[in-house]
Amino acid sequence: MAYNRYIYDKAENVLSFRRQKAFQDAEERRQKIYSKLPRVREIERQLASTGFSAAKAVADGSSDIKTELSKLKETNQRLQTELRILLVKNGYTTADLEEQYICPLCTDHGFVDGRMCGCMKNLLREITFNELNSLSPLALARFDTFDLSYYPNTPDENGKVPRVRMEKIFNFCKNYAEEFDGHGKSVYMEGGTGLGKTHLSLAIANRVIERGFGVIYCSAPDILEKMRFGNFSKNFSRETLGHLEECDLLILDDLGTEFPNPFSSSCVYNLVNKRILLQKPTIMNTNLSHEQIKKFYTERFLSRMIGEQIYLTFIGKDVRITRGRMK
Ligand SMILES: [Zn+2]
Repeated sequence: MAYNRYIYDKAENVLSFRRQKAFQDAEERRQKIYSKLPRVREIERQLASTGFSAAKAVADGSSDIKTELSKLKETNQRLQTELRILLVKNGYTTADLEEQYICPLCTDHGFVDGRMCGCMKNLLREITFNELNSLSPLALARFDTFDLSYYPNTPDENGKVPRVRMEKIFNFCKNYAEEFDGHGKSVYMEGGTGLGKTHLSLAIANRVIERGFGVIYCSAPDILEKMRFGNFSKNFSRETLGHLEECDLLILDDLGTEFPNPFSSSCVYNLVNKRILLQKPTIMNTNLSHEQIKKFYTERFLSRMIGEQIYLTFIGKDVRITRGRMK
């Protein structure tokens, strides 16, 4: 997959920082070891000079290069052994004198023999995901911060008890996150504002990310706005769209609050449809009722988007208001 320059530059910065850090850390370790064991530095200098002597012997065309080189080799091995033993005796290894890279394969350069290293690929993906997720309060919403006591424990006008319903939904979401394998069912969450849809979606996102999957959370109006102004803005490219289509879990929040037009409707349809074809689950949230969403989207959209998904209806009163009153 190709990425735009902006994402590349960010990745290069991260790699350059990693290399610098590896160098600084190694330098610190070396200085510590040298001050404790001055002999280590002496050995290192001698080792460097045996290398130089060998090169000199060859360059000078000494009469007996073979004997001289084997002598140097012997000295070199003797010094190496002394160094190893001295370090181990004091609780170190020779690796402590060298740079420790996060990716030893490419020594944090991102490329090996002209080919992109796996660590660079991961980094590019991670940065793209972070860019897309940067506007969401991902860190704040977790299952353990979801409070069921804000939901009334008495039947509403339809005879349904919000807390009982929400407990079921909460347990469903928790299991969904625990059992998520990248190919499960999609989820459609419907209900008025402030009933916890965003909180539970983000809690799923957090848990699924913890379990090692790639998750993108975005508000539908926000992402549609970015799509509308071309695929060529700084943070949004065709590659970004590719991530939305292919990430393990996509969460589209606030569906239906975008400006309704055939463009947004077809964008959402194409995106979610592509994911259904790839068997990648999507979680969609909307504050609108079934009747209201019908006005925004076509029948085709509804049957495809909603028909094949797990349908969760949130009920109760706006818990943000309840929370305010309780304080
Ligand atoms: Zn690498």
